[in-house]
Amino acid sequence: MFKKILIANRGEIALRIQRACREMGIKSVVVYSEADREAKYVKLADEAVCIGPAASALSYLNMPAIISTAEVTDAEAIHPGYGFLSENANFAERVEKSGFVFIGPTPESIRTMGDKVAAKQAMIKSGVPCVPGSEGALGEDPKENIRMARAIGYPVIIKAAGGGGGRGMRVVHTEAALIHAVQTTRAEAGAAFGNPQVYMEKFLENPRHVEIQIMADTFRNAVWLGERDCSMQRRHQKIIEEAPAPGIARRVIERIGDRCAAACKKIGYRGAGTFEFLYENGEFFFIEMNTRVQVEHPVTELVTGIDIVQMQIRVAAGEKLPFTQRQITMRGHAIECRINAEDAYKFTPSPGRITLWHAPGGPGVRVDSHVYTNYFVPPHYDSMIGKIICHGDTREQALARMRTALSETVVEGIQTNIPLHRELMADAKFIEGGTSIHYLEGWLGQHRR
Ligand code: ADP
Repeated sequence: MFKKILIANRGEIALRIQRACREMGIKSVVVYSEADREAKYVKLADEAVCIGPAASALSYLNMPAIISTAEVTDAEAIHPGYGFLSENANFAERVEKSGFVFIGPTPESIRTMGDKVAAKQAMIKSGVPCVPGSEGALGEDPKENIRMARAIGYPVIIKAAGGGGGRGMRVVHTEAALIHAVQTTRAEAGAAFGNPQVYMEKFLENPRHVEIQIMADTFRNAVWLGERDCSMQRRHQKIIEEAPAPGIARRVIERIGDRCAAACKKIGYRGAGTFEFLYENGEFFFIEMNTRVQVEHPVTELVTGIDIVQMQIRVAAGEKLPFTQRQITMRGHAIECRINAEDAYKFTPSPGRITLWHAPGGPGVRVDSHVYTNYFVPPHYDSMIGKIICHGDTREQALARMRTALSETVVEGIQTNIPLHRELMADAKFIEGGTSIHYLEGWLGQHRR
């Protein structure tokens, strides 16, 4: 096992990784920007190194600074967390070339899955069902593209091969709008992602977002750790996640889970990963794979009892998966609410000093957050300041615990989205379960303040 790991991230996930290391008896080094000097995990760190100013490009995205810090601190491995450099194949490659272990898949896997056209092709080959669409990237011939859209049937969605974070896609309802949409998306994709390739998919009108968590070692063993329903989204950003997905038959999930695990074996995938699907009318359609730990991993941890971050570290150190698919069992139900520093209904960011932070507790309540009373939320990064995750024997119990947890939580000095979560936890349709990816935006439209 490693003696020392460098954590190349910030916020709650840096703390999460630090906790995993500590439990395993591994020393950890955190790197931080000048804006994160006050963070709890920086104060609690075995070693902490300031690697640059607040701007991410100069600190958390600064590859030479991170790698040289690993060198001077004698770290053996680098955990990239999520966001920042976690899905950057060049970074993974540079980490390995410099003699460190990258806690994640191979650079080749990251590269393939980061190109959505290549990822879909790899999935089709591995027997994972995809959204019907173009076989590869779209060509220049407008006639051919029009013919393809007709064959798929409107509405279609034009997506950037290099897109991410909900950016770089455009829904097209009529033939008249198609050619212009392809051109604009292509131009935007070239500018934003450095890759002008676009592809076409059927636009599913009322799907749910259901994803499969997988874990693989370097001996071609791969398992899936259940699913998560992340349909509560605003602008393609998830805000509530849960496991299991309400109202979907186990055998339907098992079939798709087994396909994902088989695909991992086939492509030689290692580490944690997530296959994201749209689910509509009883069918799963692959949209993309994330080759890293996800924000919502705790709901899976609570229902399976498996520590995903520790498993990432174990397989990166060359250990075999300690369980087979049959040994994985799910217990109860878990729900996560992402707590963001923002106006609950207008969504304007609300950085600043937290004058009072009172976290909830009690049976089945987990809080993953790096903030505390008197912590200053810097304006430079993502607005998420933590996550409340509740587990219960049933979905009803998990919901009841979440309501209690949210009622106990006090955050003063900045605005948060807790009032929105309180309302959603009491919403009849959400309580019923199985709402689509459009539900939250519709709800927000009706409940405009
Ligand atoms: P990103 O990498 O930017 O997150 P995804 O491919 O995962 O892009 O898509 C993000 C979101 O966009 C999905 O969760 C869904 O809400 C919507 N979306 C993507 N493809 C489709 C599609 N074919 N039909 C309907 N909605 C889609």
